[in-house]
Amino acid sequence: MSQQKPTSHTTSQDQTAFAQKHTIGRRSILSGAAGLGSLSLFSAANATEKAFTQRTNTPSLLDPVSQYPTSPFPQQPQSWPGLQSHMTPRPDCGENSYKGSGRLKGRKALITGGDSGIGRAIAIAYAREGADIAINYLPQEESDAQEVAALIRKAGGKAITIAGDLRHEAFCKKLVATAARELGGLDILVNNAGRQHYCEDILDLTTEQFDWTLKTNIYALFWLVKAAIPHLPKGSSIINTSSRNAYDPSKILVDYAMTKAGIANMTHSLAKQLLPRGIRVNAVAPGPFWTPLQVCGAQPQSVVEHFGAETEYQRPGQPVEIAPLYVTLASSESSYVTGQVWGITGGNGVPG
Ligand code: NAD
Ligand code: MG
Repeated sequence: MSQQKPTSHTTSQDQTAFAQKHTIGRRSILSGAAGLGSLSLFSAANATEKAFTQRTNTPSLLDPVSQYPTSPFPQQPQSWPGLQSHMTPRPDCGENSYKGSGRLKGRKALITGGDSGIGRAIAIAYAREGADIAINYLPQEESDAQEVAALIRKAGGKAITIAGDLRHEAFCKKLVATAARELGGLDILVNNAGRQHYCEDILDLTTEQFDWTLKTNIYALFWLVKAAIPHLPKGSSIINTSSRNAYDPSKILVDYAMTKAGIANMTHSLAKQLLPRGIRVNAVAPGPFWTPLQVCGAQPQSVVEHFGAETEYQRPGQPVEIAPLYVTLASSESSYVTGQVWGITGGNGVPG
C-alpha cells in the first residue's frame, strides 16, 4: 500500500547526459592534474558525484492512476466512528512515504479528527514539516490516536492528544485552551472532524440525526473558530474541510451535503472578516477518499465495494494524496491565499 512518492522530475535522458558530462570531467581531472590544486578539484568532483547519486536514488515517477488500490474493496461494516486499524486495505496516510522539508518549522497546529483518515495524513505531514501538533478525536478512537501521536513524536514534534466530543460548546472551548496551553500557542487550526451518515429517504431522516450532523460539522467549527481567534497571531491559518458534496450533493446525503456547502460559505465570509487580523481562512473540498468514515455508515456497503470507481482515476484518493494541500494552505508561502476552496476530487473538476 505505502509507496514512495515521486519527488524528482529528473528523466533518464537528463541522467545519462549528466553522467557522460561528469565522467569526462572527472577523467580529465584525474589524468591531467597533480598537487593540492588537483585535490580540491577532485573533492569538488566527488561532491558532484554524490549529488548525482542522490538524484538518481530518488524514486522513479509513478502512474497516478495505478499508484493506489482500486475497487472492488471488501465490504467491511464497522460501528461508528470506526477504526482505521480495522480497515482493509488500510488507508495510506503517508506513514512510510511523506517526506517533509521544513515548510511548517516552529508552527503549532490543532487538528480535529486527527486520529484517522485525512486528519491523520495532515498530522503526519505537518509533523514532518516541523510543526508541533494537538489532535482531537473521540474516546472510542484512542488506539488510532496513539498511533498518530507516536508518529508525530518520531518526527521530532510535540504530540498532544485530547479526546472529546465536539458537539458540545464547552468541550470545544476547553479543547482550544488546552491545545494552546500545551503547545505554547496556536497558529494553525484545521477543522477536519466530520459526521456523514447516509439516509435514502428524507422521511426517515430524524431530527436527532439532522442535529447530530449540524452540531459536528457546523456548530463545532463555529465554536472552535471563536475560541481560537484570541490565540491566533498574525500569519495564522484556519483550514476547513468541505466536500465535493457542497457543489454536487448526493441524494442520500441531504444533511451532510448541506453542512459542507455551509462550510464552504463560512470559509468565504470568515476569510474576509479575519484578514484584517492577519488570519487566512481556506477550505479543501475532497472527493472520495479511502477513510474509516466511509465504512461506518457514510455510504451503503454496496457503494463501499466500488468506492471511487466513478472518478476519472476509477479509484478513491488515499489520505496521503490530500495532505500536501493542507500543508500548502497552512504554510506562510501561501500568504496571498485566503477565502479559497480548493477541490481535490479525482479529476471531476468540482469545485471548478
Ligand atoms: P475519518 O473517519 O478518518 O475522520 C473523521 C473524524 O471525525 C473521526 O476520526 C472523528 O475523530 C471525528 N469526529 C466525528 N464526530 C466527532 C465528534 N462528535 N467529536 C469529535 N470528533 C468527531 O474520515 P475522513 O474521511 O478522514 O474525514 C475527515 C473529513 O473529511 C470530514 O470532515 C469529512 O466530511 C471530510 N470528507 C471526507 C471525504 C471522504 O471521501 N473520505 C470526502 C469529502 C469530505
Ligand atoms: Mg477516526
